[in-house]
Amino acid sequence: MVLEQLEQAVCPQLDYDYDLAIVGGGIVGLTLACALQDPGLRVAVIEAKQHSVAASKGQAYAVHQLAARIFQGIGVWAKMLPNIAQYRRVRLSDADYPGIVEFQTADLGTDVIGYVAEHHALLAPLQEFMQGCSNISYLCPVEVVKTQYQPDCMEISVSMNGELQTIRTKLLVAADGARSRIRNAAGIKTRGWQYWQSCIVAFVKPEKSHNDTAYERFWSSGPFAILPLPGNRCRIVWTAPHEEAKALLALDDVQFLQELQHRYGDQMGKLELEGDRFMFPVQLMQSDRYVLPRLALIGDAAHCCHPVGGQGLNLGVRDAAALAQVLQNAHKNNQDIGSIQILQQYEHWRKRENLAILGFTDLLDRVFSNDWLPLVVVRRLGLWMLRRIPVFRVYALQLMIGLRGRIPQLAQK
Ligand SMILES: Cc1cc2nc3c(=O)[nH]c(=O)nc-3n(C[C@H](O)[C@H](O)[C@H](O)COP(=O)(O)OP(=O)(O)OC[C@H]3O[C@@H](n4cnc5c(N)ncnc54)[C@H](O)[C@@H]3O)c2cc1C
Repeated sequence: MVLEQLEQAVCPQLDYDYDLAIVGGGIVGLTLACALQDPGLRVAVIEAKQHSVAASKGQAYAVHQLAARIFQGIGVWAKMLPNIAQYRRVRLSDADYPGIVEFQTADLGTDVIGYVAEHHALLAPLQEFMQGCSNISYLCPVEVVKTQYQPDCMEISVSMNGELQTIRTKLLVAADGARSRIRNAAGIKTRGWQYWQSCIVAFVKPEKSHNDTAYERFWSSGPFAILPLPGNRCRIVWTAPHEEAKALLALDDVQFLQELQHRYGDQMGKLELEGDRFMFPVQLMQSDRYVLPRLALIGDAAHCCHPVGGQGLNLGVRDAAALAQVLQNAHKNNQDIGSIQILQQYEHWRKRENLAILGFTDLLDRVFSNDWLPLVVVRRLGLWMLRRIPVFRVYALQLMIGLRGRIPQLAQK
């Protein structure tokens, strides 16, 4: 049995167009491509949207220290840093309860706790970096139409300039987002649920300085986050039950600002809205499998979580670094990067770690989005422990920013 598995893991000698094809040129897909800049693997990135359209998504993310270290290990962080904000404090509070927990840089012994970046501030440097890598081909705008599994390769039919073409590769990586067509076509089932809440996001400009502080304030209707951005702007991520969220979205700017100011507090003075507000559905999803022979799922294609704590993209960046490490080692040892034995190393590493964070974000949302007295007592006890017991506070912070899992080699450079 062991011999049989080893034989399957040896690289087949076929004529491939690429060693691996990554479907989805979002931040997670490109992180994987750029992490594979060196080892002599031929990589194709297939992205359906135009280059500039892919980079112009109006999203912003909390970027945790581990993701920053991964970007640094790739060599792209210096290009990202000038356009992103650093936060040095996180204030966690339970509605109007005065016992606020403050996480500070001293808890970690670092200069910053984390970063906040708009989509283009992360994606554009990755796109630029990738285009300087001679082993990576960027096929864009190109859409995957069909995938066909063969024992020795994956055949991918793509629509390129209106023509259908077939690409043969040892491994297909799905980084095509939460509604992954690749995952569905492979018949991989998912588990999870839609939350009773939706999320409204908007950019605001406060009158006073945001003081490099991120806020997570839990209301019984859902968590409300304020993330600092460059130019003294802030991103708000406001979760509320569907009907309430729809009603908030329908308000005119003046009424919306009044409601917003109530949630926001007056620590930064008057607020000005910048651009449009958007509403997103919120779901928890974990794929039953992250891998099949010749197929691996990463990022939102593999899992999604509640936006509380800003975890989703960070988990995806960690998936990309972990998969890159597994593939590089296999390639170095002349093993077949598409074999299930190799791909399971990635699945064992990431599936459990992601599940822990999915569970933690779910627990946070349920415990705080609630007015039931026993739960109110328990969570206030939890906040008291976070305030008073430094070991507990540091552990919680390290868990939320990814420093409690297995650290990929890229982040140790
Ligand atoms: C309100 C809200 C706030 C959030 N805040 C945070 C936060 O603060 N921090 C954080 O870490 N995460 C956050 N997240 C989660 C984060 O947005 C996602 O986890 C992340 O964007 C997923 O990235 P991805 O690259 O996996 O997928 P996507 O960004 O969805 O990228 C998928 C790419 O694949 C391409 N594609 C799809 N199908 C095909 C096809 N057939 N052929 C070719 N290309 C294809 C798409 O065009 C796209 O470019 C938040 C989410 C929400 C909803």
